Amino acid sequence: MKIPFYSFDHINKQFRQQAIANFIDFFDTNHYILGKQTIDFERKYAEFNKTKYAVGISNGLDALITTLRVLNISYGDEIIVPSNTFIASVLAVTHVGATPIFVEPSLKTYNINPTYLEKAITPNTKAIIPVHLYGQPCEMDQITTIARKYNLYVIEDNAQAQGATWNQKQTGSFGIINATSFYPTKNLGALGDAGAITTDSFELAQKAKIIRNYGSDKKYYNSHIGTNNRLDEFQAGILSIKLNYLNNWNKKRQLIAQMYDTYLKDVNHVITPYIHPSAQSVFHLYVIRSLQRNKLKEYLKVSSIDTLIHYPIPPHLQKCYQHLNYQTGDFPIAEELSNTCLSLPIYPGLTEKQIIYICDTIKSYVQKNSNLFFVS
Ligand SMILES: *Cc1c(COP(=O)(O)O)cnc(C)c1O
Repeated sequence: MKIPFYSFDHINKQFRQQAIANFIDFFDTNHYILGKQTIDFERKYAEFNKTKYAVGISNGLDALITTLRVLNISYGDEIIVPSNTFIASVLAVTHVGATPIFVEPSLKTYNINPTYLEKAITPNTKAIIPVHLYGQPCEMDQITTIARKYNLYVIEDNAQAQGATWNQKQTGSFGIINATSFYPTKNLGALGDAGAITTDSFELAQKAKIIRNYGSDKKYYNSHIGTNNRLDEFQAGILSIKLNYLNNWNKKRQLIAQMYDTYLKDVNHVITPYIHPSAQSVFHLYVIRSLQRNKLKEYLKVSSIDTLIHYPIPPHLQKCYQHLNYQTGDFPIAEELSNTCLSLPIYPGLTEKQIIYICDTIKSYVQKNSNLFFVS
């Protein structure tokens, strides 16, 4: 049995006809930038996300950068980010000239640990970027309470958690302005690059729309030094179609996660995900941990099971951030996670038979090598 890490087969089949019909409509409109499809999708995505506004942006990284620009964050400002995240959360901060301040995650949820937040706050701190990693919402009660106490903005990086909830409230609706990505393999993915901003503020939504479009409110009148970060009209049409399936696809991911939990429950030396009781994860990824991660990954590969590591090098140790002068050991929890985490295949269409095969393969590795786990 060969199991890819991700497959579009199952989900693409479901909306293929609609996508083709939509392409013909789009082709014939003669209106290819910021047209009806973008306006439509922005309305639908705001409704889905339970925010007043959504603004389509070219991709997730640009959406994050745009949120920071909208809030006038720049040189001298400090922005708190988790020490374990996809690099884009940090790139956004440094692209506007601000300084990332890393805060360690909880070793249980892998999300930013609110108990470490206050220590990281200085008079220069302007915002906290919680990242709902792997699809699990961060502890938003504590985060928003601390943000309010110190008068900081909260900007959610919701790229991995479209449709997730914290205490019944949708992620992407907690921050003053939030960003998400529709990279093809995200829970809601386009057929190319795409992203969005969500907010309840009319002013911030308007400003985001101006900034993404050359900083222009009225054609050829430029109030801001803007960018070209518009959502592609064709992708907007695809996203409107796929949005109808998102809750259903998220449910399938949750069922797959439950099956993994069940079949891996009694396997020694393998840590399965912990989901906070207030969080409903949409399982963008199903990430286990093992002290023998690299060997286990190789063993699975030999058995034709593809896995990935999210992420092998934490941002503070990336070459591009050498100038920040961090060293190995500075963020031990993030480093521990990057050395032990392993993402198993999870996507609508993955069958129970495949899940059992994956879990049996993991079990057989652990049984054969359990002596290895005690050597450090
Ligand atoms: C995917 C992702 C991004 C970036 O999105 P792109 O659309 O690829 O630019 C940002 N943050 C997180 C946490 C992501 O997973």
